[in-house]
Amino acid sequence: MSRPKKNDGAMPDLKSKKFDFACTRCGNCCRGEPGFVWVSQADVRRMADHLEMDVESYYERYVRVVGRRLSLTEFANGDCVMWDKEVGCTVYPVRPKQCVTFPYWKEVLDNEDLLRDVARGCPGIQLKTVKP
Ligand code: SF4
Ligand code: SF4
Repeated sequence: MSRPKKNDGAMPDLKSKKFDFACTRCGNCCRGEPGFVWVSQADVRRMADHLEMDVESYYERYVRVVGRRLSLTEFANGDCVMWDKEVGCTVYPVRPKQCVTFPYWKEVLDNEDLLRDVARGCPGIQLKTVKP
C-alpha cells in the first residue's frame, strides 16, 4: 500500500462503526511507494526535538516544499525518510498528525471502496460493517 497521498488536515473523530483499528506498526503505510507525508511547523518542531536536532537542520534534511505545502522527504525506494528498517518509525511518539489520524481520514471513512483498499494493506484494520 502506498503512503497516504493526501489528507484534508481536519482532525476527525478517531472512531468508526465500519472497522476496529489497532496499529501493528508493520510499516506498510510508511514504506515502498512514493507519497506525501504532509507536515505542519508544529509537527516539524516535535520531530526535531525528539531527534535532538535543531529545527533548521530538520527542515534542511527531511522536509521538501510541494506547492504551498511541506512534506517529509523519502528515500529512493519510496520509504519515508523517518523509517528505519531496524527500529521502524524513528519519530513514532511524535509522528505527524497525518500519521496519527490514519486510517480515520474523511475520504477513507466516506468511501467504502477506498476503505477496503486501505484495509488490504493495513493489518491493523478489522472491517466490521464493510465486506473485505
Ligand atoms: S513519519 Fe513515521 S509513521 Fe509517518 S509515514 Fe514516516 S515512518 Fe511512517
Ligand atoms: S498497521 Fe496499518 S497503520 Fe499501522 S503501520 Fe501497518 S499499515 Fe500502517
